[in-house]
Amino acid sequence: MGAPRDVVIIGAGFGGIGMAVTLKRAGIDDVLVLEKASGLGGTWRDNTYPGAACDVPSHLYSFSFAPEHGWSRRFSEQPEILRYLERVAREHGVLPHIRFGTEVRGARYDADAALWHVDTDAGQVDARVLISACGQLNRPALPAIEGRDTFTGPSFHSARWDHGADLAGKRVAVLGTGASAVQIVPEIARTAAHVDLYQRSAPYVIAKPDRRYPGWTRALLRAVPPVQALSRARDYAQYESRALAFIQYPKLMKVMERRFHRTLAGQVADPGLRAVLTPGYPMGCKRILISNDYYPALTRPDVDVVTAPIERIVPDGVVTRDGIRRPADVLIHATGFAASGFLAPMRITGRDGRELREVWRDGAEAHLGITVHGFPNLFLLYGPYTNLGHNSIIYMLESQFRYVLGALTAMRRHGLEWIEVRADAQRAFGRRMQDRLRTTIFAAGCESWYQTSDGKVVNNWPGFTFAYRRATRRPDPRHFTAGRSA
Ligand SMILES: Cc1cc2nc3c(=O)[nH]c(=O)nc-3n(C[C@H](O)[C@H](O)[C@H](O)COP(=O)(O)OP(=O)(O)OC[C@H]3O[C@@H](n4cnc5c(N)ncnc54)[C@H](O)[C@@H]3O)c2cc1C
Repeated sequence: MGAPRDVVIIGAGFGGIGMAVTLKRAGIDDVLVLEKASGLGGTWRDNTYPGAACDVPSHLYSFSFAPEHGWSRRFSEQPEILRYLERVAREHGVLPHIRFGTEVRGARYDADAALWHVDTDAGQVDARVLISACGQLNRPALPAIEGRDTFTGPSFHSARWDHGADLAGKRVAVLGTGASAVQIVPEIARTAAHVDLYQRSAPYVIAKPDRRYPGWTRALLRAVPPVQALSRARDYAQYESRALAFIQYPKLMKVMERRFHRTLAGQVADPGLRAVLTPGYPMGCKRILISNDYYPALTRPDVDVVTAPIERIVPDGVVTRDGIRRPADVLIHATGFAASGFLAPMRITGRDGRELREVWRDGAEAHLGITVHGFPNLFLLYGPYTNLGHNSIIYMLESQFRYVLGALTAMRRHGLEWIEVRADAQRAFGRRMQDRLRTTIFAAGCESWYQTSDGKVVNNWPGFTFAYRRATRRPDPRHFTAGRSA
């Protein structure tokens, strides 16, 4: 088991890597990162499907403390983002801190010792502070469709792409029309014999202002760092301004919606197909997607958009409720992630034996998305209320890194062994979130991964990201109780 570690972090994606760098730079070196997979990168290790790319410009979708001059394009593809994260981990000395192939099954807080006993599939590790960086989007969601296991051809989730499956000349069924499908379909349609895209609800897909960066741009960014800082600031301001429509003035979204309809009309001439591709809910309620080749791909004669609900999967295809059986050689589940479970399936037991999954029965709650009453010395990154529809998650993560470091520094300074958020502070925060979320576009009457199965929006931050940064500048002592172990 060994001596307790000062900090144990669960997960080595953007959150875990960035947190470890932040701690190390502050002189906190006894940090262990437990990662269940054999490599780092999280989202960008798992999503290797054709066309996988970020949808926030790379100069913004990267750490402020580790700028990258060499992005080859405005919206980088998965291999480049993964390489970036690997470089950051290497250059900041994080690699020796990561224990790969170690899955955390649960953790139990021991109030007498002020320690977390972390239970992994390779034994127990003790930690004074436990930080969860396991993301919101790392557990693939597979819909409960009858016969799914009877399919005889290759069948996989978009985040578990089977690179051994050759799609050339095959009939491919793609289930789902979210962010991944929008990137996958144009790519596979080029070589597949036929693609059936099973759509439950149409997404809003707008133009992707992508471009390759010529060599001279990269050279300029390298030679004159302020240019890169300016470019990042401009992207930030541009993306942040979209919060006005998402959160403050949902009516502004109507302007974007009109522009969307003009683009759709320009790309899809057939009024029947256009009707099928027209979303039946207000823009912004689900994630707005970007692509220049999604709609053109759907107009191909060898691509069909199927809107009849799926009744069952059969060994060689898919049967829809209208009785039609469509043959398929390969089945791709582009069906997203179990996002509102947060730390699930880990079993987290706090002070007094309280189980996190019980405490969160009606939806996850955490003060500023980071701390939970009853769970001392536990910090969440990319927790409840910290996802965005309009800007970079890395910006939110960096706010959290600073907040957690602030808490740890305060603990050291005052000789504290534990701190815990007060119930009233957490409740007041949760109420404020729910009050605000009610009037945002996220609650405008659609089903999305931002919500629990009861329709409560628990994933998203209903405000500007700079307001979140201000709120997380440093932990407010009035929000916490703290002390030494019993
Ligand atoms: C396809 C895709 C594209 C995206 N594009 C964007 C974008 O353009 N812009 C944006 O802002 N956001 C985007 N996101 C959101 C993205 O998830 C975040 O931006 C960011 O990568 C989250 O990092 P993370 O470290 O919090 O989580 P993750 O990247 O999910 O990493 C979590 C890590 O924790 C590990 N882990 C989980 N449970 C355990 C356990 N029990 N024990 C040990 N290890 C565990 C996982 O293996 C994983 O490595 C995208 C998401 C997806 C899926």
